[in-house]
Amino acid sequence: MPKFFIKTYGCQMNERDSEQVAHSLLARGYERVGHESEADVVLLNTCSVRDMADQKALGKMGMLGRLAKERPHVVFGFLGCMAQARGGSLLKDLPHVDLVIGTQKFHRVADYVDELAATKEARTECAPYHSNRAMDDVRFSIVDVDEEAGSQSTIRDQQLTPKQATAFVSIMQGCNMHCTFCIVPQTRGAERSRSIGEIVTEVRDLVSRGVKEVTLLGQIVNLYGRHEFPKVDNKSPFVQLLESVHKVEGLERLRFTSPHPIGFRHDLIDAISRLPNLAEHVHLPLQSGSNKILKAMHRAYTVEKYLDLVERIRRARNGVAITTDVIVGFPGETDDDYRRTRDLVEEVQFDNAFVFRYSPRRDTPAAEMPDQIDEHVKEERNQDLLEVVNKSNRRILERLVGSQVEVLCEGPSKTNHARLMGRTRTNKIVVFPPSSKRRPKGKSEELVGELVNVRIERANGFSLYGMPLLEYRYSIAS
Ligand code: SF4
Repeated sequence: MPKFFIKTYGCQMNERDSEQVAHSLLARGYERVGHESEADVVLLNTCSVRDMADQKALGKMGMLGRLAKERPHVVFGFLGCMAQARGGSLLKDLPHVDLVIGTQKFHRVADYVDELAATKEARTECAPYHSNRAMDDVRFSIVDVDEEAGSQSTIRDQQLTPKQATAFVSIMQGCNMHCTFCIVPQTRGAERSRSIGEIVTEVRDLVSRGVKEVTLLGQIVNLYGRHEFPKVDNKSPFVQLLESVHKVEGLERLRFTSPHPIGFRHDLIDAISRLPNLAEHVHLPLQSGSNKILKAMHRAYTVEKYLDLVERIRRARNGVAITTDVIVGFPGETDDDYRRTRDLVEEVQFDNAFVFRYSPRRDTPAAEMPDQIDEHVKEERNQDLLEVVNKSNRRILERLVGSQVEVLCEGPSKTNHARLMGRTRTNKIVVFPPSSKRRPKGKSEELVGELVNVRIERANGFSLYGMPLLEYRYSIAS
C-alpha cells in the first residue's frame, strides 16, 4: 500500500484543504504516515501570507532533496497558496519537485499523484512500466494553478478520527476586499460560495458521525454568498446560513472564522444574540488602531466604528470573548500611529490577539509604499504589544478560576498525555485529568468527544487547569 505524508503550513483553511486531499488519497488506497521518511508521496500544503511561511516551506522542500536522492520513486509536491503564487518557477530551483498544485485544484491531487507515481515507478525500474502511452505523452512533472469554476464546492469530504468532536467546514473561497497588505486575493481568487443546502448536508453528515462542534470557514466568512445569493427578510446569506446550520439536530456548538468587521451588520448582531448554539467567541480582526493606517490598508472602517462594533457584540451576548489580529510596522506607521494601536488594544481588553510584523508580499500595493518600517522597530512594537495582549489574556483567564465551565473534550493534552484537553465555548483551552475525587474511576477514552463540566482551579498565561465534575452532560458508556 503506497504511503503519503502531508505537512500543512498556515491557517485553518489550509488544514481543511489538507484533510480533503488526505481523504481523496485514502479513498484510493494510500495509507497516511506521520513522517516523510516513510512516505512514497510527500506533500507540503503551503501558506503565502508572510515571507516567513514561504521560506519555511521552501527550506523544508530543500532539505527533502536528500530523501529524493535516496528514494527516487518518491513523489514530492507543493500545494496551496505559495504553489499558486509561484507556479512552475518552483520546479527550477527544486528539481526533485514533481507536482505544483494551486488552490482551486486540491480535488485533482490524487489523480496527479497516481500518474506521477506510475511514471516514476517506470523510470526507476522498480516495476515494469504498465502504461500503453507513448513516452512522448508521459509527464515527469505537473503544474496546475489554473482557475476552475465550482472548485469551492470540492472541499466537502473529510476523514474523522475516532471520537472526533470538532470539524471545520469550508463555506467559501477567495476574497474581493483587496486589503493593500494581503496576497490572499491573488492566491485564493475571487469570492465564490457554496450553497446553503450543500453546507447543511455536510454538517448533518459530520454530526451523524459524532461531531459536536463545527467551525464555518472562509477568508471573509461573514460576507458569504453576497455576490451569489439574495437577502431574505432583510437577512444576509451568511445569517440565513447560520440559521440553517443551527437547526441541525445534535450540533452543540457553531463557530465561524475569519470575519471582516464590515460584515457585522444589524442582522448578524441580532443572530449572535438569539442563536444559543453559536459559541460565545467572535474573532474580530482590527489590524491597526490608527485611522490613517486603516485607510492605507484599505480596511473600510474606522477606529470609532470598530469600538462601536465591539460594544454592540458585547451587548448582544453575555460573556462573549473577542479576539483579534493586529499588524505592526505597516508602511508609514509612526510612533504615534503605533501608540494609538496600543491604546486601543489596552482599552478593548481582548481575550487574545495574534500580533504580526508587517511582511511585504510581492505584487501587493503596500509592498510598493514609501516609508517601509525598519525590522528592529517592527520587532520592538511586536514585543511591546504582545506584553499588553498577554496581560489582558492572563487577567481574563484568572477571573475564571473557581468557576465551572463547559468543555468539549478533544483528546489527550499535547504536553502531557495523561491529561485531557478541550475548549470552552469562549475558545479557551482547558487541561484536566480524566479522574477526580468525585470521579475516581474516570478513564480518558470515556470523556473524549464529550461535553464535560470542569471546575477551574488555576490559570497560567495561556491555558486553564481544572477538575472534571460528575455531571458532564453526555452519558458515557456504562
Ligand atoms: S479581507 Fe483583507 S486581509 Fe482578509 S483575506 Fe481579504 S484581502 Fe486579505
